Amino acid sequence: MKEIVEVAVSLPVSKTFHYLISEKIRESIQVGMRVLVPFKGRKVTGFVIDLLDQPPKGIEEKLQEVGELLDEAPLIDPQMLRFYRWISDYYLYPLGEVIKTGLPPGLQLKSELILSLAQDGADGLARGGLEPVQEKVFREIERCGKVSLKRMLKIFPEKVTRSQLYFWRRKGLLNIHAGIEGKEVKPRVEKVVKYQGSEPAPPTSRKEMEILKWIQEKGEVFYSELSKNFKSPSNPIKSLQAKGLISISHKEVCRHLSVQLELKPYPKPKLTPDQEAVLNEILKGIDSKRYSPFLVYGVTGSGKTEIYLRAIEEVLGKGREAIVLVPEISLTPQLLSRFKDRFGDNFALLHSGLGRGERYDQWRRIWKGEVRIAMGARSAIFAPFKNVGVIIVDEEHDPSYKQEEKLKYHARDLATVRAKQDDATLLLGSATPSLESFYNAMRGKFHLLNLPERIEGKPLPRVEVVSMKKEKGLLSEKVKTALQKNIEDKKQSLLFLNRRGFANFILCPECGLTFKCPNCSVTLTYHLRDRTLQCHYCAYRIRAPGDCTQCGGHRLQGMGIGTERLEQEIKGLFPETKVGRMDHDTTSRKSSHLQILKKLESGDIDILVGTQMIVKGHDFPNVTFVGVISADTSLHFPDFRASERTFQLLTQVAGRAGRGEVFGEVIIQTFNPEHYSIQRAKDHDFVGFYHEEIQFRKALDYPPFSRLINFRVVGNSEKKTKAVAEDMGRIGQSLLKKGFQKGIEILGPSTAPFAKMKGKFRWQMLAKGKSHQLLHQFAKELALRLETHRKGKGVNLDIDVDPVFIL
Ligand code: ADP
Ligand code: ZN
Repeated sequence: MKEIVEVAVSLPVSKTFHYLISEKIRESIQVGMRVLVPFKGRKVTGFVIDLLDQPPKGIEEKLQEVGELLDEAPLIDPQMLRFYRWISDYYLYPLGEVIKTGLPPGLQLKSELILSLAQDGADGLARGGLEPVQEKVFREIERCGKVSLKRMLKIFPEKVTRSQLYFWRRKGLLNIHAGIEGKEVKPRVEKVVKYQGSEPAPPTSRKEMEILKWIQEKGEVFYSELSKNFKSPSNPIKSLQAKGLISISHKEVCRHLSVQLELKPYPKPKLTPDQEAVLNEILKGIDSKRYSPFLVYGVTGSGKTEIYLRAIEEVLGKGREAIVLVPEISLTPQLLSRFKDRFGDNFALLHSGLGRGERYDQWRRIWKGEVRIAMGARSAIFAPFKNVGVIIVDEEHDPSYKQEEKLKYHARDLATVRAKQDDATLLLGSATPSLESFYNAMRGKFHLLNLPERIEGKPLPRVEVVSMKKEKGLLSEKVKTALQKNIEDKKQSLLFLNRRGFANFILCPECGLTFKCPNCSVTLTYHLRDRTLQCHYCAYRIRAPGDCTQCGGHRLQGMGIGTERLEQEIKGLFPETKVGRMDHDTTSRKSSHLQILKKLESGDIDILVGTQMIVKGHDFPNVTFVGVISADTSLHFPDFRASERTFQLLTQVAGRAGRGEVFGEVIIQTFNPEHYSIQRAKDHDFVGFYHEEIQFRKALDYPPFSRLINFRVVGNSEKKTKAVAEDMGRIGQSLLKKGFQKGIEILGPSTAPFAKMKGKFRWQMLAKGKSHQLLHQFAKELALRLETHRKGKGVNLDIDVDPVFIL
């Protein structure tokens, strides 16, 4: 009999904990279920990761009992648990938190501190004469019965403090105790009514007769449909049920997806010889039932998606499952409709655009084995399938595969690991593969497959680079001419600028003041529509001042351009033309992104201005001109991947032109016309770019020739954060002396590129090494030793493993 359970709690603690199993749940508890366990005076959710006969040595005394078993069946199977363990180890992140990342949101239960009135408090309130603040707080508690402490501090900010509440508790006026806040998402169940036969007693009223007949025709109906068709059916239904003519039960239903699809048929084409050759290689991999990694390198429009569809068909035919990862923004109706046409309802969608309930239902469809394809943004890599046969990562170079918060995983790297663990085929696809993936292919770690041409030999667009050094204004003469010509020819144009807002910042030319975010080390962006200054990193916004707030000068100027200003400029130049804009500001509402695309499709927009949102996944045959307003924005980003990112963006933007019958044209405006990122993008020459960039990486010993781990300390206090950063530096140096100096190099500590972000101060230290094992060991030691230095200072350590995954 198993007596002890090992639990990974979903809290930022690096250890797992052991608990006793009570008699009540001994029969039912299994690995992979959730439990509620006592933890530091609270109750938290944890995941059962092992069942033991005996407690591990030395901790028998302290063991507490599991509070409650939350599931009837395991949410995680052993295979997924192995995957989660790997992730926890690789990214140095607590196992419970890793599992939480992989499950749909809303499955967590955590206890909170709850306030309720003690007798003396209630009496005081009744008697009257309390201080105003106390009166308000007590009234609120009386009104709600119970209020969480957190919420109370939110309702009366600056009026009550935590210590005041505790003071009242000491006086015997309040109770504060741990309670459960139950916000858990549950399966949706609906009432179903089933026909049972017209024997024994006939129904009496006309209405009952009608309803019974209707149910009989359908066999089984949802009660909700019934009430749509009949006025107040509840009494007749009760009566029919009493007579045994119908039965009522409950059934789990799937919440409807808010993504609305317009279906267009996508007839299955005959593969081109290139596609045929590529698919044949992939089929060999699938047949082998072994880990078979491929990098499918092919320009946009070369037929990669068709290859994915065929590979999935093959895998389903073998009784296995498929995971398809796409960058968030490319989950377009076009792509969905293509999948739907091929696979019907056999796929679940997982991405952050869905509501909590929807996401939970989609996840359950996979978990229950109702569908065999999971498609979505990066988190779809956690789809709870048991027998994955293929994992596809489309646009594998896309930066959105890296999660930048909390668990900083890279979905492409996880796809590789999962494919390996599950003996599956891995398809990484891109027109501009990441340097690390192409490097892996060059070293034979990935099998390289090439689709060199667009389908039906459609030529790639002609790209021209225009130097802005001698141009005046935003738009070069060439771009203006091209736009004019497209308007006359009734063709559409896209203009790409990777910066939203009207002006990057506001400057007072008299005293030199710029407006900065108080929470982040960035300037505020000017937005014309609501005349605000906004921070693009936190929620800070203020009304734009008319005059300089420092010297009172009247000549405040907007510097640098954003999409909002570009849109205005275009409208001014071409007043008769329909101009649209697609960026974060115009797409904040749920389906607005799709509406803009629809307008483009139907010809309601002639010129679309936008940020990188316009770059991905859409296929509009009437778009024949693409203008890149400034190629320099991404080029100057302080990151060693800036050149790579620029090349990828430019190539992708260019790929939007000329998808139809008409030849496409692209103009790139830049102050760096000779830069190899721009020149190679102009020539559609990925391989050329790769060779140049890889030499640069090699010379500076950057990834993929080395591995990086960034250690970032983040805290509310500038002084304490700096002190911890300095401790980190000392610990790092002493570790080097203790045997790590041979393979590891340390840079920093120094302030992070954004020294302040969302009100928190940030310092960082970078460790570089050839061997991942050694670097990893170093990181573990460092984190462990830094722990005591951070304690009680409110400073967190954030570990970011650079996504270079060399097998
Ligand atoms: P990619 O994913 O590389 O951008 P797609 O698979 O989307 O390429 O193909 C580009 C276009 O060509 C799509 O409209 C697709 O329907 C079409 N297509 C793909 N394969 C074929 C084929 N073998 N014959 C005809 N049309 C094809
Ligand atoms: Zn800010």
